[in-house]
Amino acid sequence: MGIMIIDGKQIAQQFKEELRQQVTELSAQYGRKPCLDVIIVGENPASMSYVRSKIKATEYCGFDGELIQLPETTSQEELLRVIQERNNNDAVDGLLVQLPLPKHIDSQRVIETISPEKDVDGFHPTNVARLWLNQPTIVPCTPLGIMALLEQVGTPLEGRRAVVVGRSNIVGKPIAKLLLDKNCTVTIAHSRTADLAAVCREADILVVAVGRPHFITADMVKPGATVIDVGINRLPDGTLAGDVDYQSVAPIAGAITPVPGGVGPMTIAMLMRNTVNCFMHRNQ
Ligand code: NDP
Repeated sequence: MGIMIIDGKQIAQQFKEELRQQVTELSAQYGRKPCLDVIIVGENPASMSYVRSKIKATEYCGFDGELIQLPETTSQEELLRVIQERNNNDAVDGLLVQLPLPKHIDSQRVIETISPEKDVDGFHPTNVARLWLNQPTIVPCTPLGIMALLEQVGTPLEGRRAVVVGRSNIVGKPIAKLLLDKNCTVTIAHSRTADLAAVCREADILVVAVGRPHFITADMVKPGATVIDVGINRLPDGTLAGDVDYQSVAPIAGAITPVPGGVGPMTIAMLMRNTVNCFMHRNQ
C-alpha cells in the first residue's frame, strides 16, 4: 500500500486562487471588496507569525482589511471598545481577535463581544450553538480545513470509525461534530482516556489535536488509517513538529498530513472563505 502525503499547502493554494477569482467578481458586483480586520494584543511570537500569515492571505485574495496591533498592557475595556467600533463599522465583514490573550483579559468575554455575523473564527456561542443544532453558521477554520482535506483526497467517511484526540473548543469538539455529520462513528479521546493506544488503533480516521510533539506513535495507528495531524509544536532547535511521530507513522498510514504544510495552510484558506461568506451574507 503506497502512502499518500496530503499536501495541505497545495490544496490551500487552490482554494485561495478560487477565492481570489471570486473576490474580483464580487467587488465588481458590489462595488467593494470583502474586508477582514485582525486584532492582536501583545507580541507573542507564535501569534505574530500566525497573524502575519493571515494578513498575507487577505492580500493575496484581494481583500481589504486592517491589522490592529495593541500593546500587551491594553485593558479589557479598551479591547472591547475597539471590537465594538469594528462591529458597528459597516465596511468590516469579518473580525478576529488572535488568541491567546494576555492573562488580565477574559477571552470568553472578548469572543462574546464580536458580532456573530462577523465572527470569522466561529467561536461565538451563537455560532457554536448553531453548529450543534445543524443550522447555517460560521464553522471554525481548522475543522473546516480538515474536512476540506478529507474531501479533496476522497477519504470515505460514512460508517467509518473516527477518533479525535483532544477536546478543545477550537479543534477537538467542532471536528468531532463535522465528522459526525458525515456519518462517521466518532470517539473523542483526551488526557483521561484509558488505554489511548487501543482507542486510537480503532480509527479509520485519526485526528490529533493535543499540542505535544511526536505524541502519536506507530503502535497507536491502524495500518491504512488516514491520519490528520493538527499539532504545531516548536522544538528547542526552532523547527516545527506535529503531534504525530511522522517518521514512524507515515510508513503504516494510508494517508497523512505533514507538519508544516498540512492542516495549517488549510486553516488560513478557510478563514478567507469564511470572510467571503460573511461578506455575501451581509450583502443579501
Ligand atoms: P488545547 O491545549 O486546547 O487542547 C489539547 C487537548 O489535548 C485537550 O483536550 C487535552 O485533554 C488533550 N491532551 C493533552 N494531553 C493529552 C494526553 N497525554 N493524552 C490525550 N489527550 C491529551 O489545544 P488546541 O486544541 O488548541 O490545539 C492542539 C494543537 O493543535 C496545538 O499544538 C496547537 O498549536 C495546534 N493548533 C493548530 C492549528 C492549525 O491551524 N493547524 C489551529 C489550532 C491549534 P484534556 O481536555 O483532558 O486536558
